[in-house]
Amino acid sequence: MEIINNASLKDLNTFGVKAEAKYFAEIHDLDDIHALLAWKEKNDLSTLLLGGGSNLLFKDNFAGLVAKVCLAGKDIAEEDDNFTYVSVAGGENWHDFVRWTVEQGLSGLENLSLIPGTVGAAPIQNIGAYGVELADHFHSLQAIDLETGNIHEFDKALCQFGYRESFFKSQTLDKLLITSVTFALPKQPEWKMDYAGVREVLEGVEPTAELISNAIIGLRRSKLPDPAKIGNAGSFFKNPVLSVDVWQAIKAKHPNIPGYPQEGGSLQANGSIKTSAAWLIDNCGWKGYRKGDAGVSDMHALVIVNHANATGAELWAVAQEIMQSVEDKFGVLLEAEPRVL
Ligand SMILES: Cc1cc2nc3c(=O)[nH]c(=O)nc-3n(C[C@H](O)[C@H](O)[C@H](O)COP(=O)(O)OP(=O)(O)OC[C@H]3O[C@@H](n4cnc5c(N)ncnc54)[C@H](O)[C@@H]3O)c2cc1C
Repeated sequence: MEIINNASLKDLNTFGVKAEAKYFAEIHDLDDIHALLAWKEKNDLSTLLLGGGSNLLFKDNFAGLVAKVCLAGKDIAEEDDNFTYVSVAGGENWHDFVRWTVEQGLSGLENLSLIPGTVGAAPIQNIGAYGVELADHFHSLQAIDLETGNIHEFDKALCQFGYRESFFKSQTLDKLLITSVTFALPKQPEWKMDYAGVREVLEGVEPTAELISNAIIGLRRSKLPDPAKIGNAGSFFKNPVLSVDVWQAIKAKHPNIPGYPQEGGSLQANGSIKTSAAWLIDNCGWKGYRKGDAGVSDMHALVIVNHANATGAELWAVAQEIMQSVEDKFGVLLEAEPRVL
């Protein structure tokens, strides 16, 4: 494991903000993991595990070691009557992996095409898009404890997946390195095409994983700003989940507020309703806002953008102003989706 001092993180985060790591190393194999364990034992400094840097905002330099997970490899592990089990290393690019499953004639992950980042980071926030989330096709993962060196296997129940949440996001950040993930992909496809933009493209066509993946890629390119052109981390805020009472009180004043009953709930009974953070932000007039190089995308109100040279602190200041205005107008507290460091 080669350690670089004072390494730039600018090209390693999709916001493209300037930040430095006091120490930086790439983790390619088990030897590197053992070297990382030894380094941690000798140095009393914090470690940050980094994948593709697409769900992070660096407000400051990082005063410890940034360890970029580059573990590679993927394989069809086994199959039974109902599922094909695919194992993939934590450093693999997520989208390339999804396209590989599609090329193998497998289905299940196609709706998650073009989500940036690595496989190892995907379970951390249970990535999701267009009606599918990672948990739907997750089988298990392996992680190594960076304090003890012990290897742990997590099945789905242990991961405690929720909406952009997991056991790892709340409990073990930078303590457990996710080395590989196994997916159980159904042999009987369960297409999810009930989205405007996907439905139209596939009207009258026999669906395949490849056609759906292509439709999703087209849709995402038309709706979301490309981090290669303008720095961003996708949706900056989670969609708030409100109690029915709170949601109805807001609806009485703002009749157009969207509401999607959550599992077990309904618009009448006591339950919870997910509303749209984009709608709340848009209705506070933020879409297209710009202050210096920090701003809000004019394509999507949920996306905070770095036009060129905004600092992480400037982007975070915009995020905080948005949160305050949504709270003032609707009484709803927004929660940031990316990790703010
Ligand atoms: C344009 C754009 C669109 C996006 N669209 C979506 C979307 O539709 N749905 C969605 O859910 N997300 C979306 N995201 C967010 C992001 O792509 C995902 O959260 C992704 O899983 C982050 O992966 P990463 O490798 O970049 O993680 P990073 O940003 O590098 O890290 C994220 C977190 O995971 C930890 N981590 C990284 N690798 C490991 C590992 N191997 N072991 C343990 N911990 C690790 C890090 O310490 C950090 O806490 C989008 C982002 C962008 C820029």
